[in-house]
Amino acid sequence: DKEITRENNVAKIKVVVRKRPLNKKELSRKEEDIVTVYDNSYLTVHEPKLKVDLTAYVEKHEFCFDAVLNEHVTNDEVYRATVQPIIPTIFERTKATCFAYGQTGSGKTYTMQPLPLRASEDLVRFLHQPVYRNQRFKLWLSYFEIYGGKLFDLLSDRKSTGSTGANEESSRSHAILQLAVKKHVEVKDSRRKIDENDSRNGRVVGKISFIDLAGSERGADTTDNDRQTRIEGAEINKSLLALKECIRALDNDQIHIPFRGSKLTEVLRDSFVGNSRTVMISCISPNAGSCEHTLNTLRYADRVK
Ligand code: ADP
Ligand code: MG
Repeated sequence: DKEITRENNVAKIKVVVRKRPLNKKELSRKEEDIVTVYDNSYLTVHEPKLKVDLTAYVEKHEFCFDAVLNEHVTNDEVYRATVQPIIPTIFERTKATCFAYGQTGSGKTYTMQPLPLRASEDLVRFLHQPVYRNQRFKLWLSYFEIYGGKLFDLLSDRKSTGSTGANEESSRSHAILQLAVKKHVEVKDSRRKIDENDSRNGRVVGKISFIDLAGSERGADTTDNDRQTRIEGAEINKSLLALKECIRALDNDQIHIPFRGSKLTEVLRDSFVGNSRTVMISCISPNAGSCEHTLNTLRYADRVK
């Protein structure tokens, strides 16, 4: 059992790429794996192309990131490379955000699903340190999705609102799970004005949000024949662009963070100011047939880093 240590120099923004293995279907079709990972830090994509005279050739693309995880890397290793270093900062008023970006089927949900449980275990372990012995903390969980620019609470009664039924297809929504650490405060002076939320639930010490983004290819659905699909595509496109702009603004220490650009960034606005940490996990498919989407994902990640 490893001791979690306080790390003060955790990067403000970390961009990690994760390559999934070829799946059964791709293997049965004998699809080529066109992504090669080197030294856990860079990768190449061999893009199959055709010349005007239809002779085949390969264009090689190279990308470098804070970390590049190959198809053999486990979810535990992903956790250690992304979220675990941030855990101690949560107790220093940090708002952390971990995004999974990528095309549908690239492994976003596979990557994100185990992270909140591991993070909450580590948060609780951290709270058991002697320094915190005489303090009372609460761990708060919220879970919702953004679909078509609207919020739907995934922890409320599904039956009563029918809201969460709005999106059967996860590829068109952003799923957001937040863990907040709140410190219990004794209200000694009842006349002292304290924010209602604060006095009831305690003061938020820090927070970590896990975001399983809508399939990045959905943002391109803006020319689809179906009107609803087009509207959703435009909304997804807008939110992914706004997200990129916010992260870039954060990285440049800009005073103005353009979080009003979309519902997604608006919801996350408190995570884009002050002590913030951002981890972007870009998930990519290795098969030749996904090449265009893979390159789009890597270029997006490249703009964020
Ligand atoms: P997304 O959420 O991006 O649409 P998923 O997480 O649902 O993609 O992954 C698509 C499929 O690939 C799932 O069956 C998942 O179990 C599998 N998969 C994804 N990443 C990995 C991985 N690193 N190792 C093994 N299987 C994976
Ligand atoms: Mg998914």
